[in-house]
Amino acid sequence: MSISKLDALLNQGGGVSGLRVFVRADLNVPLSDGKISDDSRIRASLPTIQKLCAAGARVIVASHLGRPKGQRKTELSLAPVAAELAKQLGVEVHFAPDCVGPEAERAVAALPSGQVLLLENLRFHAEETANDPLFSKALADLADVYVNDAFGAAHRAHASTVGITAFVKRKAAGLLLVKEIEHLNQVLHPRHPFVCFLGGVKVSDKLAALDALVLRADVLAIGGAMAYTFLMSQGISVGKSLVEPDLVSEARRLIDAAKAAGHRLLLPVDHCTAPSLAADATVQIGSEIADGWMGVDIGPKTAALYAAEAQKAATIFWNGPMGVFEVKNFAHGTLAVAEAIANSSGTSIVGGGDSLAAVHQMGFADRISHLSTGGGASLEYIQGKKLPGIVALEKSE
Ligand code: AMP
Repeated sequence: MSISKLDALLNQGGGVSGLRVFVRADLNVPLSDGKISDDSRIRASLPTIQKLCAAGARVIVASHLGRPKGQRKTELSLAPVAAELAKQLGVEVHFAPDCVGPEAERAVAALPSGQVLLLENLRFHAEETANDPLFSKALADLADVYVNDAFGAAHRAHASTVGITAFVKRKAAGLLLVKEIEHLNQVLHPRHPFVCFLGGVKVSDKLAALDALVLRADVLAIGGAMAYTFLMSQGISVGKSLVEPDLVSEARRLIDAAKAAGHRLLLPVDHCTAPSLAADATVQIGSEIADGWMGVDIGPKTAALYAAEAQKAATIFWNGPMGVFEVKNFAHGTLAVAEAIANSSGTSIVGGGDSLAAVHQMGFADRISHLSTGGGASLEYIQGKKLPGIVALEKSE
């Protein structure tokens, strides 16, 4: 089934001039001391908002920020994002101190055509993540038309991504959401060799993705703390590396599943090890992890092997750092993988905060085919899962 898209919406009937268009964006940017440390998600949201403003819509933008868990938390207010959005759009962005209720209603009523109103953090209300029908209806009452552009939240069935669509008849996917789907479809139906790099902390967090990728990817290269659970499953000593003992049998099962599918699941052959995660900890490189030491990054031989796979790939997908990327001395493996992917001539898709940060830090963003704004959502999409936020936009035929 196909989804409704923004261009069709703009050309339908009388367009959207003068109408209240509710845009669910993903403006969940990292903040430190009230300052936005990475504005990628704001920049990625601009095209849809600009197009709607140009079409004369009254653009109401809603987003979540962080995990306030139903509490009003000053440090998770979207107010700084409103200021940044105004700067980047070059138009005035009004701000409503709540996303539903009288203050939001007044702000919407006063919003002129071609201008933008940003609503306060949706997750200040627990009803948002509970996909509460009354809350969904209250959001819907602010709008004539609904546009979902929040790919990063599309794997969640929340009031602003799913519930609201029961109450607003005219709905469409925004430009970013469509762009994400089109790029990720290249991973869902990849050209071969298809090489995946998966890192990060836990096997348990990425088990469903691992299960799907051992069957789909020609090569699945594992890094990060996850790798040590896999190595442990092969009887290899991992010192005091971060492992999930409960997941050891799953790791063994995944290795067997890859073998049975004729695919290669690659594990680190050497490591950067340290006695602790402290930034000034002593570092040792080698193929073994001594007792009392922990693996904090893939070693240089592994980085070279993984880079060689990237070079041969026709399609690459990467999610999750190869080591404790936040610490400079433990970031070499992650940066080497970022560089190898940037140098590859294949289609490359990168998702997940740390992987994107590595790509940006190295100045390689222009050399990656697509940087996904949704780490979790992209991992679910490439497994072939139906994301509820996308299903909610399907046309009833
Ligand atoms: P995730 O959110 O699952 O993608 O994991 C990202 C986190 O994994 C980062 O904060 C890294 O510091 C952490 N990480 C990666 N490799 C290791 C490792 N070898 N030991 C401990 N933490 C790690």
